[in-house]
Amino acid sequence: MEFAAYGKTGVRLSRLAFGGMRFAEPRNVEKMAEVVLAAAGEGINYFDTAPGYCADMSEKIIGHAVRQLQRSGNRFYLSSKTSKSDAEGVRRDLSKSLERLGVDCLDFYHCWYILSLEGWERRKSGGAVDALLAAREQGLISHLVFSTHLPGEEIVKVIDEDIFEGVTLGYNAVNFPYREAGIKAAGRAGLGVAVMNPLGGGIIPENPAVFSFIKSHSRQSMPEAALDFLWSHAEVTTALVGFSNIEQVKEASAAWKKFTPGRKLDLEKIKGHIEASFDQLCTGCRYCKDCPQGIEVYKYIEAYNHLMLKGGESLYDRLKWHHGVDGVEALNLCSACRECEKVCTQHLPILERFEEIKRVYGHSA
Ligand code: SF4
Ligand code: SF4
Repeated sequence: MEFAAYGKTGVRLSRLAFGGMRFAEPRNVEKMAEVVLAAAGEGINYFDTAPGYCADMSEKIIGHAVRQLQRSGNRFYLSSKTSKSDAEGVRRDLSKSLERLGVDCLDFYHCWYILSLEGWERRKSGGAVDALLAAREQGLISHLVFSTHLPGEEIVKVIDEDIFEGVTLGYNAVNFPYREAGIKAAGRAGLGVAVMNPLGGGIIPENPAVFSFIKSHSRQSMPEAALDFLWSHAEVTTALVGFSNIEQVKEASAAWKKFTPGRKLDLEKIKGHIEASFDQLCTGCRYCKDCPQGIEVYKYIEAYNHLMLKGGESLYDRLKWHHGVDGVEALNLCSACRECEKVCTQHLPILERFEEIKRVYGHSA
């Protein structure tokens, strides 16, 4: 495993990092801790978790593994997050994460999930940012970072405030034109960059013909190409992959071993392959999951990707065989409250797409 400097922190992180949001059997803490330890065995030294991940078990699983990681004597780094806007909420979240992870100080703590500049202003006016800075002062956090789904130009504004030491953001061959300005600003400002969602919510490996332009040679698998794409960015410190099981850890580690450092990306050429609609794809992040009408929004909007990429006939198949959805009648329950659109990390016009889905579905069935 190769390691890279995380901005100006002096910390060197493995180029492949552990995302603790996809454990296959979160109730089986012992078994899932083995996945974490297998990753450490492959040289991964950065473990990212958050309250709420995997039915709120992720921090406990990683905390369970921490005791064994400490015994190994190898240096490793833990990251967790808070999305609270008020000081008291931040303190409560941090104290809970420290307790679950079994440490006195978190290496990285995220001001989590900044979705809009208004939301960012609320973190400041509500006292969250002051509380985070105070926690770092008190030695409860080593490095204060943020995670965001903002578009690139708005990420630049947050970075310019010079509060954070690093950023975690979704970046891949699907959405990079939408976030590229943020990555470049982070590089210029000397921030570390951890990239999540490298496979674009599965769209990249599932559409090899569409995304073949990111391959550096014909024998390369799509997940390998997608990770290569990220590692080839000088600004990217590490690629966070959410692992479900040990097999996936080994696959991603094998992808790293095949990577040729120094690959030069011609981003302009790659951009030329990306149609304007690509930044309009759903990444499957599921932040829209709390629909008051119980509509599983992401299933329909993810299927809409396929409608855009492969044509209307793919919509029925995607809904039925990938998402287990038979029919689109549930969409009629939508009250048009637009809560899903407010939290959509890709800022997609969800209600407009519902109408298109209803229109096309009958013909694709
Ligand atoms: S707009 Fe419709 S789908 Fe979206 S959250 Fe409201 S009810 Fe649910
Ligand atoms: S519709 Fe938006 S919020 Fe929902 S899964 Fe897709 S990208 Fe994420």
